[in-house]
Amino acid sequence: MTAEYREEPCRSALNKVKGMGFKWSLNPYTGCVHRCTFCFVRAFELRADRPSDDRYGRSIRVKVNLVEVLRRELLRPSWRRELVAFGTATDPYQPAEGRYRLTRGSVQALVEMDTPFSLLTRGPLIVRDVDLLADASRRVEVTINFSVPTLDPEVWRKTEPWTSPPRQRLRALKVLSDAGVRAGVGMAPILPGLSDRPEQLTDVVRAARDAGASFIWCNVLYLRPGTREHFLESLARDWPEQLPRYEQIYAHGAYGRRADVEAVRKQVRELGRRHGIGDRPRLTPPPSRSRNEAVSEQLVLMA
Ligand code: SF4
Repeated sequence: MTAEYREEPCRSALNKVKGMGFKWSLNPYTGCVHRCTFCFVRAFELRADRPSDDRYGRSIRVKVNLVEVLRRELLRPSWRRELVAFGTATDPYQPAEGRYRLTRGSVQALVEMDTPFSLLTRGPLIVRDVDLLADASRRVEVTINFSVPTLDPEVWRKTEPWTSPPRQRLRALKVLSDAGVRAGVGMAPILPGLSDRPEQLTDVVRAARDAGASFIWCNVLYLRPGTREHFLESLARDWPEQLPRYEQIYAHGAYGRRADVEAVRKQVRELGRRHGIGDRPRLTPPPSRSRNEAVSEQLVLMA
């Protein structure tokens, strides 16, 4: 698939986040060429009055000055070195990163300022940065989440048409894990009736364990307006027999029935325990340097 890349500078790099397990997010790109049918970002796009339908992911904004802006923000006296999450509204290792290196540059800037970070991706391109991430893991807390909702070839191909195969992501996880980077698997989203059978869940957990995953978590599909219309349209095309079931499950809101969601989470937790995921020791970074030391080093680097 060809996409248009728009090189548009940004005014700010770090976004303040509310109601999540982290306070800051960082998205080097707007839009994602992976164009998953269930992509949660479609809902943000609709709210921002941008296309959330089939046009989503065909035009990508590249924040070409992101690293420079980020470095300035990290130097502010008010910066408290709180965890920064990559990949909350785009895939930071989508193909554009091969050329623009904005995720890589941002990671370097965060590490120089002793700032912990987490990252969520489906992109095996991340192995390019294995040395950087291994070095970062010795200095700050680093958590890499590989999104692997399923290993089922049909479900993958129809719902994530432009992503790399899930097993390739797991090979990338192994490279990182072998290099000492804390990495695990997020099974998200699990699709009712399509990827939630016990044997399908077991396959992912077992493969994650074999790849050296330090943790595993899951989420069941949620359908906010923007995501909902596109996903149900794709479902009607690919699995029309499932449509009534989804219309029923999501009749009253974005989330499925609470009991069903909890049942899937419980299964994944138990599978994780049974396969020994979560027992790996967490890497403990050395004590942070003082803020003054980090700032002076940064000023020298920028001079
Ligand atoms: S990889 Fe993530 S951000 Fe990209 S389209 Fe898929 S769900 Fe959306």
